[in-house]
Amino acid sequence: MLPRPCLLLSVFLLAVPVFAQKQNAVKPKPRVIVVGVNGMELDIIRPLLLKGQMPNLSKVIEKGAYGKLRTVSAPNCPRVYSTLFTSTNPEEHGVTGFIVGGITANTNMLKEEPVWSMLSKNGITVGMANVPATFPVMPVNGYMISGMLTRGKNCEDGVLCAPKLSEVMGGDAVYPKSMQAELLKNVGDFYIDCERMPGAGDLKGHEAEFIDKWLGKVQVIRDQQTKLFDYLLTTHPTEFTFLAQSCEDRTGHWLYPITPFNVGYNASINNVRQDAFPNQYVAFDKVLGSILEHVDENTYLIIFSDHGIKPLREFEEKDPHAHMDHEKTTPVIAKHDFADGDDVPGSFFAMGPGIKHDLRLMGLGASVYDVAPTLLYIYGIEQPKQMRGRVLTEIFESSDNKVAVKK
Ligand SMILES: [Zn+2]
Repeated sequence: MLPRPCLLLSVFLLAVPVFAQKQNAVKPKPRVIVVGVNGMELDIIRPLLLKGQMPNLSKVIEKGAYGKLRTVSAPNCPRVYSTLFTSTNPEEHGVTGFIVGGITANTNMLKEEPVWSMLSKNGITVGMANVPATFPVMPVNGYMISGMLTRGKNCEDGVLCAPKLSEVMGGDAVYPKSMQAELLKNVGDFYIDCERMPGAGDLKGHEAEFIDKWLGKVQVIRDQQTKLFDYLLTTHPTEFTFLAQSCEDRTGHWLYPITPFNVGYNASINNVRQDAFPNQYVAFDKVLGSILEHVDENTYLIIFSDHGIKPLREFEEKDPHAHMDHEKTTPVIAKHDFADGDDVPGSFFAMGPGIKHDLRLMGLGASVYDVAPTLLYIYGIEQPKQMRGRVLTEIFESSDNKVAVKK
């Protein structure tokens, strides 16, 4: 039997704070969906928003915070995504570009711990699909399906091409392995990553026909991706979900709506489908609509792009950062790997519990380094020392409003 003072103390402890303790104990972990859109360019998106052609993204802007996202110098997908995963710079994390030391960038090169690994260790369930630079897949507390830089048949080097799930080579595209058969059965044999850009020879003499065929394939890939995302969010919901798309950027490189004023203008290509690139975002908005069906008021939604994309503007012929694939194929009329990353900032959109409404982030105050620290903050996980970014506290009403339980 307990001595009386102790019993009293126990009763007191039980009476007052237990409700709060209990609340904390049963409070669910935050649910976050991150959507990466490769090379989302605000110069193209803003007119579409004004014309009401991206109603779903408009909704996110209204209910949340948005702005430019500062990127790294000479930005390209693997380089920026790996910076975003780790909040360390390219020299530190090791994935400095598409090709590193003569080898296609892959996850074995990653020298810093990515955010999905930190979340997994903290007991957060993680689901990822088609995120660039995640091949071969890494074990997580959930599932991972690789994206850009996956190698396979007709895409042996894995650079900017689209192998099918069943034709992947040189590593696993799905973790856990057992999930691959399930995906093939229920989603089908989908393309991982977007279509390779055509070579000048493919186009010559039948430009219009080729452009339409290429855009048709891109839409097939996007439809498959929409089905995949919907399947995963429905049948494998996770606390943290990270999905990505890359057809937008691929289209922009050779079908950006340039004028005769711009460098590289060729009427037989650039006059055929002036709306091809903007249409990619209209199509993305429909994908976003399908994702939004899985977003309730307690879900955080973060949409970001790793960089923008702009018509040529530097001394390209002397540019040591020329995008390697583009050098070999179609003359590129727009790109992002400019020496000064501030020429092509990415973009950032966030909404969710405690995130300010209708907030515009001005200037380049938010950067790709800040995404991982902000994700950890939402989950109440302390930011590790090596991370160079900061929590984007300005987007939150106050830290108390978050669903997250601070440890
Ligand atoms: Zn690109």
